[in-house]
Amino acid sequence: MTPLWTKSLRFQLTAWSLLTVALILLPSAALCYGLVRTALVRETDQALASGAASLLRQIDGPEPGEADDDKRPPDAPAAVAALQLAPAALPGIGADPLYLRLVRAGTGQTAALSPNLIGQAGFLDALQSLPPVPRGSAFAGRGDDDRMRCLTVAVPRSPYLLQVAAPWDPVEDLLARLLTGLTLACLLFLLLSGVGSWLLVGRALHPIDRIVTEAEGLTADRLGPVLLSRRALSDNEIGHLVAALNGMLARLSAAFTGQRQFTADASHELRTPLTILRGEFEVALSRERAASEYRRTLESGLEEVQRMTRIVESLGFLARGDADPARSHVPVSLSALASEVRVAMERRAQAKDVNLLLEARGEAVVRGDGDALRRMIQNLVENALAYTARGGEVRVSLDAAGGKCRLCVADTGVGIAPDDLPHIFDRFFRGDKSRANTGGSGLGLSIVQSIVAAHGGQIEAESELGHGSRFTVTLLAETSD
Ligand code: ADP
Repeated sequence: MTPLWTKSLRFQLTAWSLLTVALILLPSAALCYGLVRTALVRETDQALASGAASLLRQIDGPEPGEADDDKRPPDAPAAVAALQLAPAALPGIGADPLYLRLVRAGTGQTAALSPNLIGQAGFLDALQSLPPVPRGSAFAGRGDDDRMRCLTVAVPRSPYLLQVAAPWDPVEDLLARLLTGLTLACLLFLLLSGVGSWLLVGRALHPIDRIVTEAEGLTADRLGPVLLSRRALSDNEIGHLVAALNGMLARLSAAFTGQRQFTADASHELRTPLTILRGEFEVALSRERAASEYRRTLESGLEEVQRMTRIVESLGFLARGDADPARSHVPVSLSALASEVRVAMERRAQAKDVNLLLEARGEAVVRGDGDALRRMIQNLVENALAYTARGGEVRVSLDAAGGKCRLCVADTGVGIAPDDLPHIFDRFFRGDKSRANTGGSGLGLSIVQSIVAAHGGQIEAESELGHGSRFTVTLLAETSD
């Protein structure tokens, strides 16, 4: 099972921010400590060097050949005398004076000590452990108490070496205090930045908790927008997320409402013919009847069954069309399709005494689904014939220009009321006048519109009540390349 903390974005963001701060802070503290230590070593070395220089000036070693053994006994050169006074006179390091030792070069035998070294066995051992040769500053001694920084220089014109040393313990104390201070400061800073990040991330994520709570309360029946305070909705990432969510919820809500309406309308449309069928059958079966009466009942029933079949087919087409709007896309000649439709509808037009005309200017070729496009033209022409009275005219015209194909179906029929015009493409919408006459289901224009949309085109309807209607479909023309 995943540990709880890896699921918490707040925890993860806080941990990342802490890690980042630690990655910046710890090397900075280490660098600071290192720089201070180096500076202290350099400062001590400078003090040792200036102490040694000042002492060497006081020690006047015998010139070669000028040695006067009477005045200067071999085991007590002039330097010894200078050493007795020197430490107090020399600048020390902080409160500590320097420690001085005069040794014979090569043998390491002690010739003289500064008074502050007498009785300091630890320091003496440390100094004696250094090789009796001139060398730069170096650490001597191992323990905390006897550790020293020591500079060994040759006393000019003499067989002696001078060791100038300072105890390292006070510097170590200072560095230890610095280390403690830096560690505490780092810990405090990390703690504060951890708490700060936790609070900040919590504040930033608070609207997401609200969104989750609200989203959990959403159902298909209650798809309201996610509501957050105006501050949380400002022009930031959360605001954009909520706006996108609300847009999606609005679209889902519209889709659900549409589906519900569609189902209710479909069930209503199918109920009517079923009720009629049931009534007719019940009446027919209520008593014995002549064969001709049964025949009439069956014929009427067949009509209702055909009507239901048309509705069910249309619903199926719309459902398939919605799911896969562009099934096969091949070049299709609209002119050829319009001619086929004209031939198919000619008989019906003649029966109604309506003049069905086709005018095609140029070859109108589009890319799309031929069957669907034929159905689109047929629906428009069927409507035009259905709503045009005897002696009227239905004109189908086609032209291709400017990369577009325009199909226009105009009639001189009853026209559409201005109030109905915005609704004629709605599913199951039927204008009052047509309801009784044509027996249409109100799905014809919805199908036309879904075919046009699937082909990336537009459809427009214009109409004048009592004078006729005109439907214009515009589709992208197929280009030769
Ligand atoms: P229907 O099956 O009722 O024809 P449609 O979706 O094809 O359904 O048309 C919807 C409504 O639009 C029709 O009921 C009718 O009122 C109106 N309509 C469609 N085409 C025409 C037209 N050419 N002339 C007049 N009214 C039309």
